[in-house]
Amino acid sequence: MKNSISVKGIGVTNIRVIGRLRFFDSSRISVKRAPMSRETEIKRLEDAVKRAIENIRGYQKTALLTLGKNEAHIFEIHAMLLQDEDFYDTVIEEISKGKSCEDAISVATERLGEMLLATKDEYLSARVSDLRDVSNQLLEILGSTTNKNEELYSSEPYILVAEDLTPSETVRLDKSRILGFVTFGGSSSSHTAILARAMGIPALVGVGKLSRENDGVNALLDANRGELIINPTEEEIRELELELERSKKIAIEHDRYLRSIMTKPAVTRSGHRIMIYANIGSEYEIDGALSNGAEGIGLLRSELMYLEKTKEPTEEELFEEYKKIAIKMQGKRVIVRVLDIGADKHIPYFKLEKEENPALGLRGIRVLLANERMFKNQLRAILRSSHYGSVAIMFPMVVSIEEVRQCKELISECKAELTERGERFDSKAEIGIMIETPASAIMSDALAKEVDFFSVGTNDLGQYTLAVDRQNSLVSELCERNTEPILRLIKKSADAIHENGGWIGVCGEMAADLSMTQKLLDVGVDELSVSVPYLLGVRGKVSECK
Ligand code: PEP
Ligand code: MG
Repeated sequence: MKNSISVKGIGVTNIRVIGRLRFFDSSRISVKRAPMSRETEIKRLEDAVKRAIENIRGYQKTALLTLGKNEAHIFEIHAMLLQDEDFYDTVIEEISKGKSCEDAISVATERLGEMLLATKDEYLSARVSDLRDVSNQLLEILGSTTNKNEELYSSEPYILVAEDLTPSETVRLDKSRILGFVTFGGSSSSHTAILARAMGIPALVGVGKLSRENDGVNALLDANRGELIINPTEEEIRELELELERSKKIAIEHDRYLRSIMTKPAVTRSGHRIMIYANIGSEYEIDGALSNGAEGIGLLRSELMYLEKTKEPTEEELFEEYKKIAIKMQGKRVIVRVLDIGADKHIPYFKLEKEENPALGLRGIRVLLANERMFKNQLRAILRSSHYGSVAIMFPMVVSIEEVRQCKELISECKAELTERGERFDSKAEIGIMIETPASAIMSDALAKEVDFFSVGTNDLGQYTLAVDRQNSLVSELCERNTEPILRLIKKSADAIHENGGWIGVCGEMAADLSMTQKLLDVGVDELSVSVPYLLGVRGKVSECK
C-alpha cells in the first residue's frame, strides 16, 4: 500500500468528497493537410462555421438548463466571435494566399488574439481564451484536431483533474458524474471555479502540476481545507464517511425547516414583516426564484439583455422580455433597473471612451442621460410591460436631485408618446433609485420626496464610501470589516424615505450576508433582495431576528 500524499490548493465550495482521479487532457492531436482549391477551402470554412454555431447553440441550451443564464451567456459571445468580420475576413485572406482552411483559421486566431490583447481592455483581453476555444472547435469539426478525452464524457463518477477547462469542454462533461474538480492553475474566478460553484460541487484550483501517474488513483478532495489527499488511508476514508453522514443529516433537517417557512411571510420574532425579493438577470431565473419563495424581483439587472445581443435591442425586443417577466411574476413587484453600464460592465457594440478612472466616470445613469434615445427606448419598453404586472423603474448611480428630475421628465415624455401611440401602461408605475453613492444617502431627505422607494446597492456604496475598489482583492477585506459607515448611510436613507411614506430595500451582496441581517433590520430596511440560492437562507435568518 502506497503512502498518502497531500497537495494544497485554493478550495471552492466547502465540501469533501472521495473518488478516483481522472486526468483531462487539453492538448490536441493535430493532423496537417495540403490545401485544396480556394473555393473548396472557403466552402469547408462556411460549413464548419455553420456546424460550430449549431453546436454552440446546443451548448448554450445545456448551460442554460444546468448552470444558469450567466454561464450560458459565454456561448453567445462564442457565436459572436465566430461571426466576427475581422476574423472571417482574415481567414478568407489567408486562404486566398494559398493556405488550407485550418492553417488560415490558426493565423486568424493568433492575429485577432493579438489585437484583443493590444487593447489592454480587461474584458476584451479575457475574450482571447474564448477565441481559442471557438477556433479549436472549428479545427475539430474540420477533422484536423481531436480531443483526447471522449471516454471522460461517459465514465464512472470521478474527480476531474485538468490544467484548465474551456467553456465548451466544460458543458460537454456529464456533470452528474463529476464528484469534484482539481486544476493545476487558475484562481477562484477561473471558469472551472465558476462552474464548480454553479454546480455546488467541490473544487481545488491552483494546485500546481500533478503527475499523470495519479490517473485512476483514489483521492480525497477536501475543498474546505484546500487539500487533495492522494491515496488516503483507511482511517481518513472512514472519518470522511462519518462526517458526510453527519452533515447530510444536518443539511436535510435545515432544508426541511427552510421549506416549511417558505410560504409564510418573513416576520421577525417581534412581528416585523420583511419582504424577501430576488435579484435576477433574466426571465430564466424566475421559476427558481418563485420556487424558493421570492415575493418579488428586487433587482432585475437589465444589462444581460443588452449584452447577449450583437446590436442594441429594439424597444419591441425589450418590451417582450419585460412583459414575459411581468406575466410570470403574476402581479408580484418587479423592479427593473435601467441599463447600468460603464466601469466594469461593457457592451461590445456600445463603445464607451477609455477613461482613467472608469468607476468614477461615465457609468450608470450618467451614460443613459448622455444617450437619451437609447434611454427612452428602454423606458418605453418598461412602461409598456407595466400593463402586465406590477413593474417599477429604478435608476442606478444617482448623485443628485437634478438627475432624478431629468429621469422623471423623460418618463413623462415616454408616457405622453405611448398615449399618443395608443399603447397601454400603468400610469402609477413606481419609481425608485439605488442608493449607491454617499451623495445619494446624504441627500436622501430631498431625494425621498422625488421617488417611491430606495434600494441600497451595498457593492457600490461600500466602494465609494470606503474608497475600496470592489474589483481589487487586495483591499476587499476593508469593506467586510468596515460596515458601520454603510449602516449609518442606510439608516439615514431609511429614515428619510419612511418619513415620506416610501420603503427601502437592500439589493447589494450585503443583503445575503446572514451576519448582517439583524443589523440591516435594525437600521430600518423593509426588503432584502438576494440571488436565488440565498433566498431560503435569508428568509430563515429573518425569522430568527429580534
Ligand atoms: C450594487 O452596487 O450593490 C448593486 C446591486 O449593483 P451592481 O452590483 O450591479 O453594481
Ligand atoms: Mg451597483
